[in-house]
Amino acid sequence: MANQIYSISQLLQIQACTNCLACAEVCPAVAGSLDGKLSAVYRLTKLNRILKTRTGFWRKFCRIKEPTAEELRAFSDTVFRCTLCGNCRLICPVGIDLTHIWHCVRRDMVASDAYPGKIDMIRENLDESHNVFGEDNEERAEWVEDIPDAPEHGYIRDRADLVYFTGCVASFFPMAQQIPMALVKIFDAAQVTFTLLGEDEQCCGFPLLGAGLGDQLDGLIANNVRAIKAKEAKKVVFACPSCYRMWQEHYPHEFEITHITEFLNELIQSGRLALKELDLTVTFHDPCDLGRGAGVYDAPRDIIRSIPGIRFIELSKNRENSNCCGGGGNLEIIDAKLSADIARNKIEEVKATGAQAVVTACQQCVRTMTTYTRRNKIPVQVLDIVQLIQKALAK
Ligand code: SF4
Ligand code: SF4
Repeated sequence: MANQIYSISQLLQIQACTNCLACAEVCPAVAGSLDGKLSAVYRLTKLNRILKTRTGFWRKFCRIKEPTAEELRAFSDTVFRCTLCGNCRLICPVGIDLTHIWHCVRRDMVASDAYPGKIDMIRENLDESHNVFGEDNEERAEWVEDIPDAPEHGYIRDRADLVYFTGCVASFFPMAQQIPMALVKIFDAAQVTFTLLGEDEQCCGFPLLGAGLGDQLDGLIANNVRAIKAKEAKKVVFACPSCYRMWQEHYPHEFEITHITEFLNELIQSGRLALKELDLTVTFHDPCDLGRGAGVYDAPRDIIRSIPGIRFIELSKNRENSNCCGGGGNLEIIDAKLSADIARNKIEEVKATGAQAVVTACQQCVRTMTTYTRRNKIPVQVLDIVQLIQKALAK
């Protein structure tokens, strides 16, 4: 019984669906699974009915019965098999704020005790280890040890104006650790003084939101704000678009925050980063949280076009119409097969451009697409934009 989770406006929006099916046509989960039950329109229709069964009027006079535990679980299965990519929200002609409704439905399913078991794992990992993988949080900056000529301070300074907030995936996942390793080299080349937070950094809280546990964010937020204040920093940069969005939407606005594509684009355009020629044909995948989520589309394209010799081809679905790579919404944890099926469609789109490499600006996208190309031996390189810049760094 959790109708209070939804605002009056959301309850009205849920009623406003016209069943036009536009949301189903753009849904990567539907395209990946060929299962219409994963569409926004199906979920909204079911939700509408469930909400009605919770009110006395409908139960008494229209004899609508509450769903059984089994029916609720079947509904919940469709709720968590969604990447929270926001494509349905963008396309909906009625203007239903679907992404926020999806977050609320996840909270509802947790409150109704109808959620996938993996959600408990996310909760426990964040409670106990303060990172989504359940790793020892003291090892957050261990990737620095793999840099051959890393400075003695390991990029953790007592004080700095600028903090690089690394995020869980880039800190702990070996494939993604190449991104912070490349970024610190770029900072060195441009003589940017910054600090990592090391073990004092905790998860930004984004996986909690996707898990329907958004009411448990306060501890993580307070810790990260405290850690940045302790460095006396004024500015925070993020290479992870999901961390960046979390800070935009859920953290107190006490620091200047920026995504790394905008930060590095400024360095390049002001001449502080010299780039050499690269003989490479690339396309660009707009990460959902960076593009539709944070509205950053031009900075990564400006960076790519600043590299001499590079040839750039847009994907057929680009900018706000970009198709998700399959890595969002905790989907990889909940349903790895569906995540891979969505990645397959993304890589097919990449292959159709003829590009040698797909560049993105998100470690989770790198992880999802690289896993798919490696497993299926597809000769397309997957690069974060930071890795692309490192390749082009003039000595
Ligand atoms: S957020 Fe994306 S994956 Fe989820 S229902 Fe909407 S279009 Fe489909
Ligand atoms: S696009 Fe909007 S109005 Fe159309 S079916 Fe989907 S949710 Fe309903």
